[in-house]
Amino acid sequence: MIDYRKLHKDALVADMHSDTVLRMLNGFDIAKRDSTGHMDLPRIKDGGINLQVFACWLSTQTPIEECRPRVDLMIDSLEAQVSRNSDQMAICLTADDAIKIISSGRLATFIGIENGVAIANDISNLEHFYNRGVRYMTLTHTASSDWCISSADTAEAFYGLTDFGREVVRKMNELGMIIDISHASVSAVDEVLKLTTAPVIASHSCVYELADHNRNLTDEQIKAVADNGGVIGINFYNGYLSSQWSDLSDSLFGTYRGLIDSIRTEYPDDRKKRREELGPMFDDIEKKLSKLAGVNVATVVNHIDHIVNLVGADYVGLGSDFDGVFALPDGLKDCSMMPNVTQELVRRGYSEDDIIKILGGNFMRVFNKACN
Ligand SMILES: [Zn+2]
Repeated sequence: MIDYRKLHKDALVADMHSDTVLRMLNGFDIAKRDSTGHMDLPRIKDGGINLQVFACWLSTQTPIEECRPRVDLMIDSLEAQVSRNSDQMAICLTADDAIKIISSGRLATFIGIENGVAIANDISNLEHFYNRGVRYMTLTHTASSDWCISSADTAEAFYGLTDFGREVVRKMNELGMIIDISHASVSAVDEVLKLTTAPVIASHSCVYELADHNRNLTDEQIKAVADNGGVIGINFYNGYLSSQWSDLSDSLFGTYRGLIDSIRTEYPDDRKKRREELGPMFDDIEKKLSKLAGVNVATVVNHIDHIVNLVGADYVGLGSDFDGVFALPDGLKDCSMMPNVTQELVRRGYSEDDIIKILGGNFMRVFNKACN
């Protein structure tokens, strides 16, 4: 029997997506162990994570003139945390960098952007962000942009990408910035895969066959990503892992929708008041959802299994979405619990080689190929 703790400790563990940068904008200190949120340096160490992607997220509704400055501010905040903790973390620009940083016992810190609206419809901003150290960009988010269709869009204004969208893909290939297809529509993924000359990632997506959410990838898409040599980071959000969970969540939020909207309209600028008024509602929703048992580490590994059975062990990895979601599986409530994934893979009889690929090897292959 493989010693899962040793294997996890020795393997290069890469998490392809977290939204912890958003917390950094509000005075969060990554060096301190926190009782809230999902991630900080002490817990990253406990979780045996060696490479962490920190995504700079933007809403599609961000006014165009605020997009670039807002992402710059997020990168500034991340850089400030890195320089304050340079004994524990450093920014990686290439896969070789990452390996050096990890060998020195530090966290390889990878900068991503979540939502292509960041470039404000100006191709030169891709180079700007590349020069600031950004090595992947998620093309879209929960609403379509001027040039890329979102998976949540039910009335596509164009097929996947516009001419400008195709220019973005070509420029990202040219610069050596990884294209992230999480959140993109079936049409956009199709367009990207027809065009890209480099392997892509779906940094934080699950399997549609197991949970029919628009954020998840169909078997056909999974095969196409494998043909491209890319990698899919399994998302830990209960809503993408389990249809049963997301149906209940939708119906509970549906019941409260009117009330939630009216509180948001009543206190548009008073965060504290909003939280006070919304708190009991969210508590009730959470209580009801937590009674729905059964979303746990095994559920996450079911999604990994599905991809491995379909295309082999070379195209799947981990994309937690820590600090970006409000409900996580039992046994994966924060990043310190990451070894539980390895334990479950061992329990199911995965070979050491395959586990090493899934934990981070596959992502490193894509990082090396797309960015070097
Ligand atoms: Zn996301």
